Order: sequence, then structure tokens, then C-alpha cells
Amino acid sequence: MIKPKVVLFLPSRVDPEIGDLPSADLLPLEMLHIAPTAEAAGWEVVLVDAMTEPRYVERVLAECEGARAFASSCILGYQVWDGAQVAQAVRDRFPDMPIMWGGWFPSAIPELYVNTDICDVVVYGQGELAFVEVLEAWREEGREADLSGIEGLILGRDGHVHWTATRKATHLNDLPEPSFHLIDLDDYYDLQKRSAEFGHRVRNRLPPPHHLAHRPHRGISYFSSFGCPEPCAFCCSAEIAGRRWMALDADVLVDRLAEIHRKNPYDVLRFQDANFGVSKKRMAEFCEGLLSRDLNINWNGTIEIKQICQYDWDTLKLMKRSGNHLMWFGAEAATEQTQELIRKAIKEGQTDEAMSKMHELDIKSGLTYIIGYPGESVESMYETIYEAADMKTRYPSCSVEVFPYRPIPGSEFWAPSVQDNGYPVPETLEDWGRCFDYKFNSWWGVIPEDVQQVWARFTQMAPWFDGIAGGRGPISQLLRKSAGVRLRNRIWKAPIEFQLFDVVRRSLGRVSTYI
Ligand code: SF4
Repeated sequence: MIKPKVVLFLPSRVDPEIGDLPSADLLPLEMLHIAPTAEAAGWEVVLVDAMTEPRYVERVLAECEGARAFASSCILGYQVWDGAQVAQAVRDRFPDMPIMWGGWFPSAIPELYVNTDICDVVVYGQGELAFVEVLEAWREEGREADLSGIEGLILGRDGHVHWTATRKATHLNDLPEPSFHLIDLDDYYDLQKRSAEFGHRVRNRLPPPHHLAHRPHRGISYFSSFGCPEPCAFCCSAEIAGRRWMALDADVLVDRLAEIHRKNPYDVLRFQDANFGVSKKRMAEFCEGLLSRDLNINWNGTIEIKQICQYDWDTLKLMKRSGNHLMWFGAEAATEQTQELIRKAIKEGQTDEAMSKMHELDIKSGLTYIIGYPGESVESMYETIYEAADMKTRYPSCSVEVFPYRPIPGSEFWAPSVQDNGYPVPETLEDWGRCFDYKFNSWWGVIPEDVQQVWARFTQMAPWFDGIAGGRGPISQLLRKSAGVRLRNRIWKAPIEFQLFDVVRRSLGRVSTYI
């Protein structure tokens, strides 16, 4: 019997016009997670990932020939616009093809999807089970099927947005194993090898472990949990995942990772969880499991500052021994007042304590801050930049970034950002796809010009302190030292030594380093 076929498409993460590459350890996890329920129900699932398929529009259209459904997913960024264009191409070629959307962006702002030509339904939040129920309805009746009895969907009705009954989230332990057989990991490994020379032009690439810094290596990514228990007001997780955190048991997780490693060995594992380290017990079991399997890999993931402060030294050392080389933290703000405002509640001194522990263990930290929240004082913005500079200079292995605040639909801060602070809401999927990128967005919101200038100096100085000048020669060391003095003492004016260095480099035909 011929199986009904569904085509899954993960849009491009980076606008090819910019010329950057996506980090190729970012696997199409969202698609690998929804596929197995459909396969179990007798569907043939084809996955096209724009990252590994150079001619993905043609491939999607070819695969849609004879298929019964098309589904895509996106997060904020270029994926939004790329996905919309491909879905439109599918609609134009196959007017009767049912089209389903999932992912954070369509869940947070469904009115841009339902009631349009490129969408028949949005699956809200966790999609593994709703996905197959929709497919089964479409199997019989195609686009005309009545989906209103399926939980966890957003439908368009007479120009309005209609939510079906709420679907209770399912624990990851009760969901099938992701369909890794749908992708060829060698394609991703090859891409990682080929993009190794692109340096900072590879978006979202994480620093490798020391011993792999100058060697090609293979990385994969994995989801081990759903949701996050934190209530951060600038993030849409609380709204969409309902502050639930459901994590795969550590032994199951290690078994699955070991099986992937057996088939396609990898060197570095990147957890794409919203918050990997919520449970100290699971962390310890996971690390013990890795050690007992002798996988000999390095791994990294997200964790909260306060969790590192709560973990005991035995657990932290276990993380290190199990191959943890990097953790990423959202410190978000320096003052307790702003911590209260954003509902993050990091106490004074905790960020320093966490960074100091990581530094002592020789585990790298990726630390991010945000300035310009709705209701944040100017003093708080300065304090945040100063703390970022302190962390950078005190713990040199710590990579620190400060971002201007960007409103996220579905977050608590969305309404005040739009209503009180005049955030110019993008109107079309193209606008969303083109504007929502921290590096290329120029909305400054409530951040005054003097803070913007200090922020710009910090953002320029930090890479000099990291040694962007290159080499270990005396000039490079001098510039690094100078950046350190400036960051430590908050000297933001007239960075002529760097400008001079840059002019000389450019006169020699080198690429500009003065960002
Ligand atoms: S910002 Fe991070 S910690 Fe806060 S709710 Fe979102 S995912 Fe959780």
C-alpha cells in the first residue's frame, strides 16, 4: 500500500543576501521531533532542511508532487520570511495542498498566518501529537477537513483567529524518539568543516573546546527538555509553554545520545533546550551517564545563574569531568530593581559568583545582558554595561554581550513596548523576517543617545580585549591591555589607538577590525 506523504520544511536561518552562514551543528530538531508520530501512523515523512539543501525550493516542490500535506516551522528571524516564500510557492503549485505551521513565531503571532493563503492551521506550542492528529484528519478529507475538535490548534474562521481547546503538554518521556534517520549527519558535518574558515561570519557558532579550537570537529544539537519554569517578562516561553519544564530522564537521554554517537560519532553536543540545567539531580545523572558510557565528547547548554549558585561543587566538578566546556547564561540586568522588573530575580553578586565558579573550573561562559526594557531607568542601563565590562575583564574566558532590548510577541513586555514605547510593529511576514535580528535591527526604544554611545564603545572594546587584533605580538598585546584598562575604568572616549591600528591595517589592504 502506498503511504500518504507529508513534506516537512525547515526554512533558512540566515538571509543568503547577508553572506553569513548558519552554524551547521543546529539540526532541524523541531522537525525530527514531530516526525515519529506521523511515521508510526503510517505516513511517509520527507524532511527538507534549507541548511543542507542548496536548491531547497525546487526540492520542496518536487517532493510535494503526490504528497498529501506540507508543514513548516520557524522562529523569529529570517526563517519567517524564507518559510513564507516557500509555502507560497507550494500553494501556487499545489492549490489543494493542506499547509500546517508550527514553532514559536506562528504560535506567538498566529494572526499573521491563519486566514492567509499559506496556512490552513497553526499548531500552538508543543506540536508532536497535534501534528499527527491534523494529518490524520487531512488524510481523509484534505483541506476541507474540520479540525475544530483537535486540541492545541489555531484556525482562521471568517477572518478571525480561533483557538481550539487547550492541549495539555505531554512529557518528553512519553513521546517517541526523534527521527534522526531522516537526516544524514554527514551532510551537517561536511558543512561544519567547509564553514570552519568563515570565522565570525558563521551565525550562532559557539566557541569549541580548547583542544578542538584549531581542528575540524563534528557537532550535533539536541532537545532534552520542553519549556522553562522561569517567568521572564521579556521572553515568550512563559506564555507559550506555561512555565512547565519537562525533561527527558537522564538515562534515556544518554542512551539516545550514545546511539547517535555509535552510528555517526560526534565531538561536541549542543543542547538547544530553553533551560537545560533546571534540575541538579538530572544534571548529575546525565554527567554520570556520559562518563559511564565513555563517549568522550564535549557538551554545552543553557543554565540559569542562580542554578550555578545553588549547585554544589561536586556537581559542578562532575559537569567538567563529563566534558562540559561551555554554559550560556542570561544575566540580563545588573541591578536588583531591574531584575524584579523583568522577573528574573538574580540577586546582587550571583552573576559574579557563577562566573567565578565557571572560571575556576575552566568551563567557558557565554553571558548576555539586555538594556532598554520598558520601564528600565537610565542608571540601570549604565549599571548593566558596567557589570558586563567587569565580567569581561575579571573572567577573560567569559564571552559577554549586551543587546538592546527587542520586544518579542507573546511576552509580557510586548504590549507596553508597543503601546507605551512606540515599537513599530512589523506588518508583514517579510518585514518580520527582515527586521528581527539583533545585529541588524536599529530600533533603540527607550535607550537614550548617551547610553547608546557607551554601549557602542563597550561592544567595540570587548573584541579588542578578546584579541581581535590577532597574533601574540607586542602591538596586539598592547591593544588588548589598553582595551582592558578602558573596560575596567569605564573610559569610553576617543579610542584613538584602535582607530590608528585600523587605519594602518586598512592601508595595508587588510580587512577592517574596528567594528
Ligand atoms: S529568558 Fe530563558 S530563563 Fe527566562 S523564561 Fe525565557 S527561556 Fe526561561
